[in-house]
Amino acid sequence: MDCIFCKIANKEMDALTIGEGDLTITFLDIFPHAKGHAVVIPKTHRETVGDLTKEELAALFSAVQDAVQLLGHALQPDGFTIGINQGKAAGQAVPHLHVHVLPRFERDGGGSVHSVVNAPSEEPLAELREKIVQSKQKKMVG
Ligand code: AMP
Ligand code: ZN
Repeated sequence: MDCIFCKIANKEMDALTIGEGDLTITFLDIFPHAKGHAVVIPKTHRETVGDLTKEELAALFSAVQDAVQLLGHALQPDGFTIGINQGKAAGQAVPHLHVHVLPRFERDGGGSVHSVVNAPSEEPLAELREKIVQSKQKKMVG
């Protein structure tokens, strides 16, 4: 498969790796949006969070924790933004799941996760919740 992140995982393409486990690899983003901007990926090609096995999911989040600890120690940031762009609508450009780890610094000019989108449903929240819960029950029955 012609996937750049698979190539990095298989060592067919160079990356500035800062961490590696059996199931994950962590490297610096080539077009960083923050000092120390890193991405954590599963070594196996998975496109979305839903595609991961539970073992891969645990390994991925554990690698995110390692990256936060490492970058925190090395760069002494004031905080972190941790996020996944899942699907084209959310801005996913590379269709191999990756978790962005962005060290944040006071006065870096960036916003919070709330600044990513502001298009809430006009439906009352209680109705929305009902719809969501009903769909979960249908899924569990069917
Ligand atoms: P996304 O929009 O969430 O799919 O982001 C993909 C990210 O991968 C972007 O931040 C790119 O800068 C980064 N990226 C793409 N190619 C490479 C590469 N060869 N090495 C490191 N990072 C990359
Ligand atoms: Zn891939």
